[in-house]
Amino acid sequence: MKQITHWIGGKRWTGTAERHGDVYDPATGQVSGRVDLASAEDVDAAVAAAREAFPAWRDASLTKRAGVLFAFRELVARHRDDLAALITSEHGKVRADAAGEVARGLEVVEFACGIPHLLKGGYSENVSTRVDSYSIRQPLGVVAGITPFNFPAMVPMWMFPIAIACGNTFVLKPSEKDPSASLLLAELWREAGLPDGVFNVVHGDKTAVDALLTHPDVSAVSFVGSTPIARYVYETGTAHGKRVQALGGAKNHMLVLPDADLDLAADAAVSAGFGSAGERCMAISAVVAVDPVGDELVAKIKERVAKLTVGPGDDDRSEMGPLVTGPHRDKVTSYLDSGVAQGATLAVDGREHELPDGSGFWLGPTVLDHVTPEMDCYRDEIFGPVLSIVRTASYETGMELIAANPYGNGTAVFTNDGGAARRFCNEVEVGMVGVNVPIPVPMAYYSFGGWKASLFGDTHMHGTEGVHFYTRGKVVTSRWLDPSHGGVNLGFPTNG
Ligand code: NAD
Repeated sequence: MKQITHWIGGKRWTGTAERHGDVYDPATGQVSGRVDLASAEDVDAAVAAAREAFPAWRDASLTKRAGVLFAFRELVARHRDDLAALITSEHGKVRADAAGEVARGLEVVEFACGIPHLLKGGYSENVSTRVDSYSIRQPLGVVAGITPFNFPAMVPMWMFPIAIACGNTFVLKPSEKDPSASLLLAELWREAGLPDGVFNVVHGDKTAVDALLTHPDVSAVSFVGSTPIARYVYETGTAHGKRVQALGGAKNHMLVLPDADLDLAADAAVSAGFGSAGERCMAISAVVAVDPVGDELVAKIKERVAKLTVGPGDDDRSEMGPLVTGPHRDKVTSYLDSGVAQGATLAVDGREHELPDGSGFWLGPTVLDHVTPEMDCYRDEIFGPVLSIVRTASYETGMELIAANPYGNGTAVFTNDGGAARRFCNEVEVGMVGVNVPIPVPMAYYSFGGWKASLFGDTHMHGTEGVHFYTRGKVVTSRWLDPSHGGVNLGFPTNG
């Protein structure tokens, strides 16, 4: 069985852990690995390594930092299939999807390769007579990243390429459910020439998270995960004086207006609802069909769902893999029963889909129709292959639904009316919006993040907001003496 341990100071940890977690192959349901769960002392060791590495890395030239990032970029690209295989073996998603997440993570590395440009400050000559001012952005120190199971490579890569490019040192606490990708990334950093201690990985659960959130030497925390934990991380981290960005859960609505191309909308709903078995924070979970398109749209969705191939992620024929764990599969399945008990119609029952034999964590794609806002299947983030169809009378009532939802991560409108689409983009209270695009994940040079209960803190990830999160601004005002300096002046500095 695979042993998975921490990465501290440029090498695998050689200590003995007191606690361990099981890692599963979701396609077989078998335990495939054992991951060490860090104690507070283990976290101390990782933070100490990062702290020791900080002064030299902070002072490394921009050319040197960019050089390491370029080398890392090449290595990740070369090992893309190895990373994808590791992700599939522990998360369950199909290979193409796993390779896709590595590709999206790589885009952030590519963005971070431009760090010399991104850190350029401003300079103003003669802000006062013979006085000049310039602004600079400096790294924070040791920063931590705490990440969810659903993107074991991409979400950490939203964080650490930029943090490290900015001159910080990093401690990653990945999900204990699929921890292996982070170790391969650590090895690639070392091969790329990153000095020991600049990138560290501690595996663990709440104990490790709490140790990071309260550690006096951790300056900032980036978190991605469910809303209750995001809120907790934000409140605990900020109470301990840290800068925190905590991205939470989601319930993404796709509004289908009567003039939409219903084939395009059905393709999009099925792709965005069932890709990665619905375990994506940008998955569409509620399709809001504006009258009278409901029946026709549901028929088109059902047609497409029936053809989906569910199977092991390492089989090229599979379009959708298993869920991540048995308990998660059972929780997702419980919404099928509660939905029906509360009045929804089971238009497609994922339990009846053709599924592989064996004890893998399988559930086929499910469509619940005639869902209403008070049902649990609508209110909760299910995070599985369950698409809810909500019928609504008009654009306005559809918008009221989206506005009333506590989450604000992603959303999409499907229409051929440019004016309606523009109004939607202007009015909707959601951080990432698609127009005839169901999963509007921003490119690396824009920033990723939601509104409302999908984000605690005010800075989104990557793009220029990422650079700002991982740096502090400083403004220097300088005067080099010349013979005309003018003596003591107790007045507040004004410019003349
Ligand atoms: P999770 O909240 O259970 O775990 C996230 C991280 O927090 C993990 O590293 C985990 O070890 C840690 N953690 C879990 N319980 C904790 C506790 N009680 N105290 C401290 N730390 C704890 O989330 P998950 O199940 O791994 O991931 C799925 C969730 O992540 C979904 O809600 C999904 O919407 C969300 N997500 C959001 C985004 C986004 O960008 N907003 C992206 C991906 C995933």
